[in-house]
Amino acid sequence: MTSVENRARLVLGNWKMHGNLAENAALLTELRAADAASHCEIGICVPFPYLAQAASALTGSSVSWGAQDVSAHEKGAYTGEVSGAMLKEFGCRWALAGHSERRVLHGETDEAVAAKAQAALAAGLTPVVCVGESLADREAGNTLAVIERQLKPVLALGADAVSRMVLAYEPVWAIGTGRTASPEQAQEVHGAIRAALRALGAAQVQVLYGGSVKAANASSLFAMTDIDGALVGGASLVADEFLRIAAI
Ligand code: PEP
Repeated sequence: MTSVENRARLVLGNWKMHGNLAENAALLTELRAADAASHCEIGICVPFPYLAQAASALTGSSVSWGAQDVSAHEKGAYTGEVSGAMLKEFGCRWALAGHSERRVLHGETDEAVAAKAQAALAAGLTPVVCVGESLADREAGNTLAVIERQLKPVLALGADAVSRMVLAYEPVWAIGTGRTASPEQAQEVHGAIRAALRALGAAQVQVLYGGSVKAANASSLFAMTDIDGALVGGASLVADEFLRIAAI
C-alpha cells in the first residue's frame, strides 16, 4: 500500500516496557505467521533485552525489529546506554529517537534527540524521530510552533541525513489515553511537517501518526494525504489488532 504521493506505508509497533520471554514468543510467532498477508511494511521496537529473541523469531520474515532508544555516543563510559553499533549487531533496522516518554520522563532535549538520530544513522539504523505537542501546548494554540522547534535541530542535519529517517507525529495527549487526534487534526500537523521536508528537499520521508491508533481508527487516519502509516503502542501488543492495522 502506498500514499497518494507513492510513499510506502509503514506500521511500527512500540512495545514500551511490556513483555516477557513467554508472552513475546507467542506474539512473535503470530507476527511471523501473518507476515505474508500484511499490506505494508511492519516493524516492532522492543525492549533491549528482547532484541535477540526478536531477531531469532523474525529473521527470514519481512517483519523488521528495532529499539526504543539509542545512545548519541559511539562508545565509552556511558553506563546504561546502548550504542547504535550494538543494536546493529542484533539485526535492528529501527531506533526510536525522542519518544515523548523519553522527552518528558528523561528530559531529552530537541538537540539530544537530533544527536541520537545522527548516531543511529551513523550505525546504519533508520531513526524514527518522534515529535508531538502536549495538551497545554495545543490548547494554547502552540502546536505547530512546538513541532517546528522540535524538528529544527533534526532538519539542520541536512537533506541527505533526513532522507534516511522516518518521522512520527505523536500528540502527547493522545498517547496511551485512548484519545486519538481526528484525521483532520493529524493531517494539519503532517501537512506542516511535509512542507518543512519539501523545503529541505526530503519530501519522500515517511511521516507516521501515533497516539491510540487501533484497527477501528487507522483507516480514516491512513486516508489523509500526508500520513504514511502508524507508530502503535498498546495495540501492538495484541497480534490480531496490530495485524489488522497493517492489513488496511
Ligand atoms: C506510542 O507508544 O508511541 C504510542 C503511540 O502509544 P499508544 O498507541 O498506546 O497511544
